[in-house]
Amino acid sequence: MHLHEFQSKKLLSQFGVPIPRGTPATSAENAHQAAEALGGKSWMVKAQAHTGGRGKAGGVLLAKSLDQVAQETQRLIGSRLITHQSGPQGLPVNTILIEEPTNIDRELYLSLLVDRSARRNLIMASSAGGMDIEEVAAKTPEKILTTHVGLAAGLQPWQCRKLAFGLGLAGSQIKELQKILDGLYRLFCTCDASLLEINPLVVRQDGTLIALDAKINLDENALYRHSELVALRDPSQEDAREMAAKEQDLNYISLDGTIGCMVNGAGLAMATMDLVQLHGGTPANFLDVGGTATAERVAIAFKLVLSDPKVKAVLVNIFGGIVRCDLIAEGIIQAVKEVGIKVPVVVRLEGTNATQGLKLLEASNLKLTTASTLQDAADKVVAATENPA
Ligand code: GDP
Ligand code: MN
Repeated sequence: MHLHEFQSKKLLSQFGVPIPRGTPATSAENAHQAAEALGGKSWMVKAQAHTGGRGKAGGVLLAKSLDQVAQETQRLIGSRLITHQSGPQGLPVNTILIEEPTNIDRELYLSLLVDRSARRNLIMASSAGGMDIEEVAAKTPEKILTTHVGLAAGLQPWQCRKLAFGLGLAGSQIKELQKILDGLYRLFCTCDASLLEINPLVVRQDGTLIALDAKINLDENALYRHSELVALRDPSQEDAREMAAKEQDLNYISLDGTIGCMVNGAGLAMATMDLVQLHGGTPANFLDVGGTATAERVAIAFKLVLSDPKVKAVLVNIFGGIVRCDLIAEGIIQAVKEVGIKVPVVVRLEGTNATQGLKLLEASNLKLTTASTLQDAADKVVAATENPA
């Protein structure tokens, strides 16, 4: 689960990390009032959306009058912000963060993440802040500093000093960075975050440090123990189909291709997608109906896969172990009766009650193609996207 910048910054400040004064606003009038209350002669207007690259996309700007704050807020609210990270659809903007502007001397980068291969948390820092860290890693990897935090020992002062020196900080800035890292690390652990990124961490013209942007991703599996964080969820920023699937306890992942995949089991899902790719196709999504599928749940699942406008053909690949193939067939028939099908569907059923399942599909007179093996199924579904009927 991702948090908005204004939500992340509130957490930062609770953990003693300095942030600019600011107020979230949901209307032009609100924004005007917020800016007036902050005082000063200019204000940052920052569109809140779960994406980076907002600055380059016109979602972060400096307003030089209260009227301009209101105008820019009016322009942004209700729009979709399209950045190089957001995908072509962009993300809806419902909230604007109004902040006092910061005088920047240098922009730094700081992040904390879980390094699964090292089985420890990792702190990354760079003197090349304000840029995509992927780009820094590709072009100037020497500018990225890293340090792993021992699980038992926790973050040590020497690690903070090492990072501070590497970032070119000196004097009281070293203590400041130590305090910031300490706060960030406690926040990271306390909230069960999987990623915490400050880009940029700014050295102000007076030499002090401040977090100008903040991104926090929380570990979904640990959310059950953070009801106060669950309340920060913004469904408007999430994939509607993934949300609907989650409500049904179905595992649905949205992808970029054209073939919808309904399977059972994560392993079979991976194998199915590999085979689709091997035959020259690309998956639009995959949905794992799991082991406890009923006809109703299969119907819901199948409708979800079909509802994706990217889907040009569907591949149903079920290996019936615990799940019964006749129930899968019933679910498909039920779904098609309700919503119809406008795209070719290839079905491969194998395992428990496969013969009954196939008989049901044949008797239903639906326009489905059956396949006997996974190879055959992948072949047929890719062909169906290439030569639509
Ligand atoms: P992002 O583009 O989504 O990562 O949004 P950021 O909050 O990081 O803002 C993008 C860029 O805008 C930053 O890297 C800064 O260069 C600039 N920026 C943001 N806030 C301020 C500010 O208060 N003062 C100045 N001078 N620049 C800012
Ligand atoms: Mn940023």
